[in-house]
Amino acid sequence: MVAKTRSQFIALPKPNLYLICSLMQDISGVYAALQEPKKIVITTHQKPDGDAMGSSLGLYHFLTAGGHSVQVISPTNWADFLQWMPGVDHVLDFEKQTAQSEQCLADANFIFCLDFNTLSRTKTMTAALEKHIGKLVLIDHHQQPQTAAFIFGVSNTAKSSTCEMVYDFIVASPQAHLLNTHIATCLYTGMMTDTGSFRFPATTASVHRAVAHFMEIGINHTSIHSQIFDSGSEHRLRFLGHVLTNRMEVYYEYNTATFCITAADIHKFHIKTGDTEGLVNFLLSMAGIRFAAIVIDREGERKWSFRSKGDFDVNTFARTYFEGGGHFNAAGGRSDESLAATYQKFLAILPTFKNQLQ
Ligand code: 5GP
Ligand code: MN
Repeated sequence: MVAKTRSQFIALPKPNLYLICSLMQDISGVYAALQEPKKIVITTHQKPDGDAMGSSLGLYHFLTAGGHSVQVISPTNWADFLQWMPGVDHVLDFEKQTAQSEQCLADANFIFCLDFNTLSRTKTMTAALEKHIGKLVLIDHHQQPQTAAFIFGVSNTAKSSTCEMVYDFIVASPQAHLLNTHIATCLYTGMMTDTGSFRFPATTASVHRAVAHFMEIGINHTSIHSQIFDSGSEHRLRFLGHVLTNRMEVYYEYNTATFCITAADIHKFHIKTGDTEGLVNFLLSMAGIRFAAIVIDREGERKWSFRSKGDFDVNTFARTYFEGGGHFNAAGGRSDESLAATYQKFLAILPTFKNQLQ
């Protein structure tokens, strides 16, 4: 999700490791290499969302139609609401199919990295990617990308979604004519999810022009919305009721609201990957709330999501205090502390931003 643009800086957490390719060349440099059939891996961030899976599968269909041998690898499992997407059955889960995935990475000529800014966003796959620096190609719209890790790439924080950037990559390529319904369906999905159904400020005229193009090609937008938003379980809806009733705190002096969700909640309501997606946005639907945060105790860590309205920079907030990052108005982070401890830390930080939040 992108709601605001800021100038970007290059962060090099491990400079020595990436010295071999310190200057990322423009993505257009790969078109020449793609004139011959290549072995290509496409990967994205852990727990891929609509934009991550949509951009990966959109590019997969495009490169496959262009005669390349292509494998999409997700670092982890993904939400059930993405399971309908064309091509998803061919995606490898690195955590479950590690050896096969590592072989594909070793065999690949290029590894396209979509919708993430630092290799650590691929969780347990990070070390495997670091072995293949020199093949990595970036297409992403997050702030402060680790550009030194990539040979070719494009990073544009003004873009609504990585799907929009894959669309730009396709239409600027010599094989733009290969754009088909499968590609358009996948790219529409991520453009729709990352723009909050075309409402965030990054939803430009170019986004709408791309959507018009997809509709001319023949996508079924009603079906896509329905598969994404109307496919949840009864458990998920009852969980939502529980969270809204019992887990919400509102701090009016800071125009801030939170959800703090325990491991027992996750267990009791059979919450699976993707079931908590979008939950944090409910907090911003309250008049006056400018900063929303959710913390969830799950899978060995405490995972934070931050959202803001207006000029409160949650990317910097997440980066400074919770080992995370993302976009100006939408970011995530994590903690190894207990749920109570990380939540107390959040509450202790809040007064620092009282003036900005009022
Ligand atoms: P979400 O809160 O929906 O998980 O993520 C919001 C945005 O922040 C997404 O663009 C996501 O890719 C990014 N993000 C989420 N968690 C992290 C994190 O731990 N580190 C970084 N750098 N970005 C994150
Ligand atoms: Mn995205």
